[in-house]
Amino acid sequence: PVRTRIAPSPTGFPHVGTAYIALFNLAFAKAHGGEFILRIEDTDQVRSTEQSEKMILDALRWVGLDWAEGPDVGGPHAPYRQSERADIYKKHAQQLLDSDHAFRCFCTSEELDTMRAAQMANGETPRYDGRYANLTRAESDKMVADGMPYVIRMRVPTEGVCRVEDMLRGTVEIPWAQVDMQVLLKTDGLPTYHLANVVDDHLMEISHVLRGEEWLNSAPKHQLLYEYFGWEMPVLCHMPLLRNPDKSKLSKRKNPTSITYYRDAGVLPEALLNYLGRMGYSMPDEAEKFTLEEMIASFDIHRVSLGGPIFDIEKLNWLNAEWLRALTPEELKNKILAWANDSDKLTAMAAAIQPRIELLSDAVNWGAFYFQNLPKITSDDFNHKTLMPEQIMEILQLTIWQLEVLPTWSEENIYATIKGLAAALDIKMRDFIAPFFIAIAGSSSSTPVMNSMAIIGADMTLIRLRNGVE
Ligand code: ATP
Ligand code: GLU
Repeated sequence: PVRTRIAPSPTGFPHVGTAYIALFNLAFAKAHGGEFILRIEDTDQVRSTEQSEKMILDALRWVGLDWAEGPDVGGPHAPYRQSERADIYKKHAQQLLDSDHAFRCFCTSEELDTMRAAQMANGETPRYDGRYANLTRAESDKMVADGMPYVIRMRVPTEGVCRVEDMLRGTVEIPWAQVDMQVLLKTDGLPTYHLANVVDDHLMEISHVLRGEEWLNSAPKHQLLYEYFGWEMPVLCHMPLLRNPDKSKLSKRKNPTSITYYRDAGVLPEALLNYLGRMGYSMPDEAEKFTLEEMIASFDIHRVSLGGPIFDIEKLNWLNAEWLRALTPEELKNKILAWANDSDKLTAMAAAIQPRIELLSDAVNWGAFYFQNLPKITSDDFNHKTLMPEQIMEILQLTIWQLEVLPTWSEENIYATIKGLAAALDIKMRDFIAPFFIAIAGSSSSTPVMNSMAIIGADMTLIRLRNGVE
């Protein structure tokens, strides 16, 4: 039976690329009468957060994708969160060690640094040189007994060419010399992506792996791991990555990339899914507007074209308008209410404007910016009695850079970030936050701005701040 999966890493906001890959996995599975499941790949304990996992699941569900098994719905292969499967990976790493397909590497980080520096000085690409690959098992066991920390690395052929089959690309050849002796299990006993991904795809009986082409170079390692374990490998299909209108890889600096942004801006989930379904794909009848069911009914993976699909907001907005026009006024009213009734935001907004309003109708003035897309502002709106225009741009830009990497979006963290920057630039907090009122609320008199940022969320905040810098 066909089984596909989406395997997001909860290390950030819900990326439209994740919904795009999930959509094709779901369409492929459903078109073949199979199942689509969701697994959380949180092996990177430092960057993974619960907030991110929740946002990704919520966003995928909002857009209309549903999974038969997953961390939230359970299933026969539970747990579906890799952080809860550590013992499984350890056992499999041990198995590779025992069959001598992997070896312990005792390199300290200083040793690795020295090795890299020497290679770079010689004009070579830095890579692990295999220095512990030839220890005998007795030598290696002795070092473990002596309490030396180690990682487990896989053995990789040093010459020849690896041939990988891809559903869309046919046979892809990658020289083994380009494939490193990948760390499978880290010093702390936790797996890397490669080991966990292969073990889970096998144990979860995944038959087809559709994923971004950024993973094509990892395919040789994965293929080798399947061979080492004596398992059948799922069929691979590397999808073209989404691109900015200038053809570069879709990046948040040029295009909003978060599903949450599109939801908050008022794109209908059906329209977003429809748009993603047109990324590198066309319907047999060339239809522009279609539902998920229609896509599934005629789905054929070979209709995917490898030229990089361009994710263009203007085309998305056009398609969204088509969806809106097709509604009755009553249906449209319900869509507007449902969109505005995003309950967390409404309640938080109500709390923020409560001290300031006399009539319910005042909520329209005080509250509009919470729901707007981008406030209509010009550079003159930023004029300030003590700050120079260049200073204002600097404040916005530095703040953007720091907020972009904030692990958890909360008023407290936003405040700490901004306060730290104001202190570093020696600007009074009151003056420092003045430009934020303009960029976020479109006005210097508004509800407390760091609270507003917390309420409208990371994506919308960053997009408005970037809009202010332009
Ligand atoms: P960076 O800016 O560091 O390259 P990123 O934009 O690639 O980051 P990630 O957090 O690495 O974002 O990716 C989140 C998810 O979105 C991953 O599953 C990744 O495969 C997917 N993704 C990212 N960029 C694209 C893209 N251009 N097309 C399709 N999927 C993408
Ligand atoms: N966790 C990986 C990601 O976030 C999954 C890649 C794969 O599908 O194998 O992209």
